[in-house]
Amino acid sequence: MNREPLSQETVARLERDRTLTDGEFASLLETDAYDAALYESADRVRRSVYGTDVYVRGLIEFTNWCKNDCFYCGIRHGNKNASRYRLDEEEILGCCASGWELGYRTFVLQGGEDPFFTDDRICSIVSRIKRHFPTCAVTLSIGEKSRASYQAYFDAGADRYLLRHETASHWLYGQLHPAAMSLDNRIRCLYDLKEIGYAVGAGMMVGPPRQTTEHLVEDLRFLEKLGPHMIGIGPYLSHRDTPFAAEPNGSLSLTLRLLAILRLMFPKALIPATTALGTIHPKGREMGLKAGANVIMPNLSPVGVRKKYELYENKICTGEDAAECRVCLDRRVEAAGYRVVVDRGDPK
Ligand code: SAH
Repeated sequence: MNREPLSQETVARLERDRTLTDGEFASLLETDAYDAALYESADRVRRSVYGTDVYVRGLIEFTNWCKNDCFYCGIRHGNKNASRYRLDEEEILGCCASGWELGYRTFVLQGGEDPFFTDDRICSIVSRIKRHFPTCAVTLSIGEKSRASYQAYFDAGADRYLLRHETASHWLYGQLHPAAMSLDNRIRCLYDLKEIGYAVGAGMMVGPPRQTTEHLVEDLRFLEKLGPHMIGIGPYLSHRDTPFAAEPNGSLSLTLRLLAILRLMFPKALIPATTALGTIHPKGREMGLKAGANVIMPNLSPVGVRKKYELYENKICTGEDAAECRVCLDRRVEAAGYRVVVDRGDPK
């Protein structure tokens, strides 16, 4: 991929046209010279669409059992050191109830791909949450399923689905996953979810082993084609019990640069300042908000299991309960110049 020259005009053009050439994207990803201009432009665009509103999603990590073996992930099937847990229906409902009291209007159920949670069990959980909290939104993040399963969850009341594509490069996908997993199936899932009517979230890790600038440009093009409602990105962070234990973490500044580029490409997207961003730097999430992110996903899981949902090491917010997280969050968001709102925060 050729690198093309940049100027301040390039950032203005990205804001206006919502895209650049491959060569310009590549150059932009490889320099910090335009970061200030990118953040300023991204923050202006986010304020023009969403004002200073920050939406919160209560994250319930309901199982760390997983049948997959993604090379980067701490809860991969092959990690015999992981201490496994599952929440039961009552515990999940309990998390939602405390979240509701704290002002959460979206609940995200995330987990490993755990066969214990059959479609019937997922549908039962979703419909019970919707019955108790009819005005909330339910988001699922439970991996790759058949179209029929996605349809069943949707019919039970699920509104949104988070499924990061992880990387749009077939080659890199193969470097990060065992041969049994395929990028084509993951992409099939994303299009099925969209067609069914979910608000869909995709995204990639920044800086996993062997990722190049070219791969990130492929990710941007893939996202342009898919047109997701939500885009989650975060730095790759290593975990001692994975084949990538010795690999370096992804970069904070590259993640922030990508957040700003994504805000300019997708002015209406719901873009979280992720937990991984908060883990790589104590002010990472605040920096993410200033670079264009407008969503935060605090943890609602019971404190007793939080450390066990260890996708990567040193994950933040594993010691506080939901109420403490909420107070800390309000303070952080306000200090960054924004405001947490009590709202489902549906895509515009
Ligand atoms: N099983 C679900 C949820 C996965 S966890 C699924 O497959 O969609 C949510 C996200 O955490 C993943 O999509 C991945 O992008 C991210 N993640 C996993 N391991 C990570 C690591 N070591 N560093 C940074 N992010 C990681």
